[in-house]
Amino acid sequence: MSALQSAQRVTVMYFAEVMFPFGTTRKKTAVGEEVTGLIVWWNRNGQVNGRNWSVIVDEKGIRAFLILPERTALAKKHANKYVTASLEKLVALGVEPFLVTILGREMGTFTSCRCRKPSWYYLFASVGSPLWCGDCRNPVPLYRIPPISGDEYYGILMWNEDHLACDTLWIGSGVGERFSGRQMSEAESELSRAGREICAAIEEKTGIPTYYYLDRYSGRSLKSEKARKCPVCKGEWLLAERWGIFDFQCDGCRLLSSLAVNFPR
Ligand SMILES: [Zn+2]
Ligand SMILES: [Zn+2]
Repeated sequence: MSALQSAQRVTVMYFAEVMFPFGTTRKKTAVGEEVTGLIVWWNRNGQVNGRNWSVIVDEKGIRAFLILPERTALAKKHANKYVTASLEKLVALGVEPFLVTILGREMGTFTSCRCRKPSWYYLFASVGSPLWCGDCRNPVPLYRIPPISGDEYYGILMWNEDHLACDTLWIGSGVGERFSGRQMSEAESELSRAGREICAAIEEKTGIPTYYYLDRYSGRSLKSEKARKCPVCKGEWLLAERWGIFDFQCDGCRLLSSLAVNFPR
């Protein structure tokens, strides 16, 4: 794993404090449960990143410390029906509208894509959104694209979790190292097949070409690495110049890859 590759896994962005004032409610326990549920819905809708949030309760209300893909991620226009239903329940419980305070952007992290219509996307596991813009190379909040299954992005988020789990095993270099390496680098692994299906579904819904990235860990020589063919169609796919971390791109199979980390160009 190169430093650049591992750095790119991190897309955590804005830290926010979200306050839910108790208002007139007397059902503080019910409010707490609903706020917890709301955060999960936000997360599944791409409005809250990662899985590490903290919730504090005091006499005034509930404060949640969340990581957002952009400052306006919790705006109503991004809500899906589950988020809206949860917010309506909080109103029915007597809770006042929530207040968002942006604490700042995490050091060294990416901003979100703001392109009006990206010309292509790629799927790349990260702590935030695993969908990246091919034009500005920044992550795309999932609520910007139509849901892939039902009303949610659950499949994409599960693929991302699985990939991050493989990453952890691979970096640990102990349990499951070989297994995880294959899952992340072979086009026909379970992980890659799931990821490629997601890319095809995103492309179908958005009309925007969506590529899948295959990791590459070790090779024999720079020469043999450069001679690698697309693992699916066996065609030429070496790029004239490295683009970000990508050395290979097959437009027909919508695949991207890099030279082995022990032979960078
Ligand atoms: Zn962009
Ligand atoms: Zn190909």
